[in-house]
Amino acid sequence: MGGMNGKSNGIRNIVVLTGAGVSAESGIDTFRASDGLWEQHRVEDVATPEAFERDPDLVQRFYDMRREAVQTKDPNPAHFALAKLQRELDGNLLIVTQNIDDLHERAGAEDVLHMHGEILNAWCTSCDVRSRWTGTLIERPACPECGDAALRPDIVWFGEMPYRMDEIFDAIREADLFVSIGTSGAVYPAAGFVRDAKSLGVATLELNLERSQGSHWFDESRLGPAGTIVPEWVQEILDNKG
Ligand SMILES: [Zn+2]
Repeated sequence: MGGMNGKSNGIRNIVVLTGAGVSAESGIDTFRASDGLWEQHRVEDVATPEAFERDPDLVQRFYDMRREAVQTKDPNPAHFALAKLQRELDGNLLIVTQNIDDLHERAGAEDVLHMHGEILNAWCTSCDVRSRWTGTLIERPACPECGDAALRPDIVWFGEMPYRMDEIFDAIREADLFVSIGTSGAVYPAAGFVRDAKSLGVATLELNLERSQGSHWFDESRLGPAGTIVPEWVQEILDNKG
């Protein structure tokens, strides 16, 4: 698609990091760094290994509700635009997301790297197998693999190591452009990717509703709702005007 009219912008490989701001326009409420609350719960009560040990019913119920809610939501124009870019870019687009929903995939994206896990997965702490899970976990169902009642949400909690960090760093190293979309710039290690990119000489762009804590690290910041500014940016790239 984009290859025939020259490569004036020289952009072949892109790493996009998406965060809460991309899912917000689909009606998904996520953890807010501003007040430390997630759907009226303190993160210490629902999003740490200690919380799960202390009150597993509360934690399972919390994620059961999130899992149910996600399945009633739909992708928005930002998700569809990124899926289109992945299909049509004359190079590679890796979508790294902090979001636990499956809206990128439902918009048609492939190869989405969920660094904070997936709400539609259950993780067996007995056999370590992850299974697609659309129902509830509160009743302690048996693991489809081993039969143990040892399933937890496949979510990276605070204090746990995000998934596939080596792959993310490798992709940033190979990238011509790093783009952060709808992230607060407050949650590490994702908030540090822009600095890694810059130190490697990779161009950096932020697309966000408002200036983030890390805005000053980016070569360029564009402000506005993701559903508007992401499709505009994608079209620019595909038109080779970037
Ligand atoms: Zn198991």
